[in-house]
Amino acid sequence: MAEKACKTCHLIIKEGVKCPSCQGENLSEKYSGYIVVFDPEKSELAKKIGAKIPGKYAVKIK
Ligand SMILES: [Zn+2]
Repeated sequence: MAEKACKTCHLIIKEGVKCPSCQGENLSEKYSGYIVVFDPEKSELAKKIGAKIPGKYAVKIK
């Protein structure tokens, strides 16, 4: 199964139909580029994209 990116918070998920971060069901397989967030509370980048949990986040979602 292809990885999907949440259109709401940009989190990339490997399985399931719901985003574990925002509970959104608006997922897309078409995204380009991603960044990895290890510690959302300390990462400036994470704050910029609104990441709340560690994980991979899509940079661009089509
Ligand atoms: Zn989400």
